[in-house]
Amino acid sequence: GQTDGPYRRVVLKLSGESFAPPGERGISMEEVVHIASQTYRAMQQGVEIAIVIGGGNILRGAQFTAGNSSIQEATAHYMGMLATVINGLALQDALESLGCETRLMSAVKMDGVAEPYIRRRAKRHLEKGRIVIVAGGTGAPFVTTDTAAAQKALEIEADILMKATRVEGVYSEDPEKNPHAVLFRNLSFQEVRDQNLRVMDPTAIAQCMEHDLPILVFNYRVDGNIERAVRGEKIGTSVTS
Ligand code: UDP
Repeated sequence: GQTDGPYRRVVLKLSGESFAPPGERGISMEEVVHIASQTYRAMQQGVEIAIVIGGGNILRGAQFTAGNSSIQEATAHYMGMLATVINGLALQDALESLGCETRLMSAVKMDGVAEPYIRRRAKRHLEKGRIVIVAGGTGAPFVTTDTAAAQKALEIEADILMKATRVEGVYSEDPEKNPHAVLFRNLSFQEVRDQNLRVMDPTAIAQCMEHDLPILVFNYRVDGNIERAVRGEKIGTSVTS
């Protein structure tokens, strides 16, 4: 159906941490189903949703190699990319158990597990009302799935990149460390850069800025927030030109 909201197509970046119980690692299907049902309801507003899935609940390349000389950093990044495929499979089944049609696409070729990510095919799935889950990040090491999310959003011509996090939005400082940190409601890309604010990784910010792609950062832990975000309600922090 057609949406009354401002967005036709969105990319939703889900961190791996949204798949683990708070403060823990790994995957809990209870958490996955919870975020899947939030996303499915948002999609039923008539918005096309492509999810770029992270892998941090299982492994992050940079962290895995820190202080460890027995593994090359590139190898660890490939391990991280594979972690996103594990998450993607879990998310796909969770969505389908709710009755939502999905396609899992991977930037890392993996026949029998996921379709290869092909831009035009991804767009076609979205047009047909399927939620597309993009795993494997960019398929290249030394970046994160934030960068993949920005890149995919540009490729498939999404109207906005939505980053779901465990805090309300973008703060002046880490709100989990400093309770006096100030929450921003609106920011320009320039302000994000000048103040070195932690929105997404710098490569992702640079790409969004260069191509005028707005970003919304919001709290996925608040029930209904994904729906509110796709309806264009004022939640979280929006970053625009
Ligand atoms: N990764 C990569 N290339 C990509 C995307 C991800 O090498 O294009 C690796 C990287 O090591 C990253 C890990 O996969 O740390 C998991 O992704 P990410 O840290 O973005 O997961 P999230 O923090 O969103 O859960």
